[in-house]
Amino acid sequence: MQSRRFPPLPVIGIVTGVYFIAGKLGLSLAFLNASASPVWPPAGIALAVLLLFGYRIWPAIFVGAFLVNATTAGNVATSLAIATGNTLEAVSGAWLVNRFADGTSVFDRPQGVFKFALAAVVSTIVSPIFGVTSLALGGFANWANYGAIWLTWWLGDATGDLLIAPLIILWSVASKRRWNRSQAVEVGVLLLLLFVLSEAVFGGWLTISARNYPIAFICGPIVIWTAFRFTQRETATGIFILSAIAIWGTLHGFGPFVRETENQSLLALQSWAAVLTITAMALSAGMAERQRAEEALQQQKSVVETANRTKDQFLAMLSHELRTPLTPVISALEALETEPARTEETKASLAMIRRNVELETQLIDDLLDFTRITKDKLQLRFAPVDAHLAISNVVEICRAEAASKQLDVHLNLRASTYNVAADAAKFQQIIWNVLKNAIKFTPEEGEIAISSLNPSPEVLTISVRDTGIGIDPEVMRRIFEPFEQGNRSFERRFGGLGLGLAISKSLAQAHGGTLTVQSDGPDRGSTFLLSMQTISPAEALTVPVRTRDETSWQGLKILLVDDHQDTCTALEKLLVRRGYLVAATHTMRSAMETAVRNRFDLLISDVALPDGTGLELMMQLHAISNIPGIAISGFGNNGDVERSLQAGFSEHLIKPVKLDTLEAAIERALQGAAVS
Ligand code: ADP
Repeated sequence: MQSRRFPPLPVIGIVTGVYFIAGKLGLSLAFLNASASPVWPPAGIALAVLLLFGYRIWPAIFVGAFLVNATTAGNVATSLAIATGNTLEAVSGAWLVNRFADGTSVFDRPQGVFKFALAAVVSTIVSPIFGVTSLALGGFANWANYGAIWLTWWLGDATGDLLIAPLIILWSVASKRRWNRSQAVEVGVLLLLLFVLSEAVFGGWLTISARNYPIAFICGPIVIWTAFRFTQRETATGIFILSAIAIWGTLHGFGPFVRETENQSLLALQSWAAVLTITAMALSAGMAERQRAEEALQQQKSVVETANRTKDQFLAMLSHELRTPLTPVISALEALETEPARTEETKASLAMIRRNVELETQLIDDLLDFTRITKDKLQLRFAPVDAHLAISNVVEICRAEAASKQLDVHLNLRASTYNVAADAAKFQQIIWNVLKNAIKFTPEEGEIAISSLNPSPEVLTISVRDTGIGIDPEVMRRIFEPFEQGNRSFERRFGGLGLGLAISKSLAQAHGGTLTVQSDGPDRGSTFLLSMQTISPAEALTVPVRTRDETSWQGLKILLVDDHQDTCTALEKLLVRRGYLVAATHTMRSAMETAVRNRFDLLISDVALPDGTGLELMMQLHAISNIPGIAISGFGNNGDVERSLQAGFSEHLIKPVKLDTLEAAIERALQGAAVS
């Protein structure tokens, strides 16, 4: 943080004052030479203020250093030389940190801490060179003692940089972390523990400290704990407290660093403190870096989750919007197909249109299924299902398609227990998806074998094996993921959205089963295995048997309400052709008016109407008669169905509605009404 402006005079004055006091304190620990102390906090103060306020604060350091020395020992010349050395040392240290280690952000990363240590060790060479040389030249130091004084001076300055500069910098820049209550308690406990332990080691409380056992290391864990749990700021503070107590104790003859002379003791102590600082600060910076990475990851995660939700919503909306226009197309198609006197050409065209519309519907249904599964809105109606019967049905449906590619389809259903508790439609959907894939991905004249067995009586495994294009081992891991289509190139497209297997696997899981795949690699075929829990034959006997009531409902009156003109006209045509009497309206108001004038046997209504909802219409009609109703909607999740049923509809159909489905629903609705 370098200020371009000159720091205001009061700031310079305060820094000079602080430097002076710290210098006096430091020189009070100068034993080898009156001007050379192994404890020199001013070095750290000078470095910190230069980094915080910019290089222009240098006069404060120069004046402070001059005053400390001029009032302690030497003469004006030596004091000027020492002040020059102190100032140059701080400026060069700050330059190194600014240039190579992010300035005041130097403690954000472990590399920064190491670079800072290096800058401290290197830049502090300057001051003793100026200081000790000028003292020796002035006759205030013995040339014979030059080396020892130089070392003391240098170590004092270097440890001053290492211990004091981080403390000032970290307390001056805004902390990015706030403590919660329990963390504040933890910090309190840690500081207390640190105080007690350093007193025990250095304070003379216990006899061990008086005996000078080498037990300084027992303070280490507390410092490391602080570094691990809190920021660099707390770590620097902890070390500062520890080192202050250690200096006091050592000078009083306590603790492990006591040597023959006080200077030697302090040199040993300061070396220990320097190493501890670098280690703990690097660890603390490493922890901070890790936390930042975790936060960034968390942020990324929530971005991805939001994007995923948006995608799901988009898919749900998209599939709904794509579905709506298909309703009139299918209805019109049905009408055209029942038209007499069709030429062969129109027949072929209609068949082509049907195939493509059905394919489109299938894709949209896949999308809808998938969005329902991802939104956990899948509704399963469990009942005992004869798996062999279901498989045979699916195979029959697909046989023509397999035959068109001359595929040999074998059925080998050997399982002796083959009843499962399942949603019959969804169970068939799983088998259908897997078998359709086998047909799709097996070249002409290949083979498909569908078999079943019981690895144990409670488990039924259905296997669909083909001799097709096989699966790359690398693709195999993600084959059940949505939109996965293997490594196939665009030219080699087979159609589809890559959702079939994702849906099938989710459906298998929703049934408490598993769907897995095996393949020996490309062109070596694939085997899909569906495993499900079986149920006992006794339970299976409760399979509900559907009978089709052949009662004719011809001549019954239907009130049809749909604001989509095309859909309404097409449906009306169809229903009329089936023998119903239909009154078609497009709004809720006209529907109500028509209903008041006539008596209807059934209401078929779109849920979304321009002047209200089909649900309101149903409720209002119920108030005047007991008419049954079928709701038609582009939306079909559980909530939509529930709301329709609550409004009094007996059925809720999702667009596009196939005629068969509608007819079955009409039958059920009328039957239900006849019974009640
Ligand atoms: P789609 O078939 O619509 O692409 P699926 O989810 O059904 O989507 O299948 C995903 C992918 O898995 C396919 O695109 C294909 O690459 C691969 N796959 C599925 N079944 C087989 C199979 N029997 N043989 C080879 N590859 C298959």
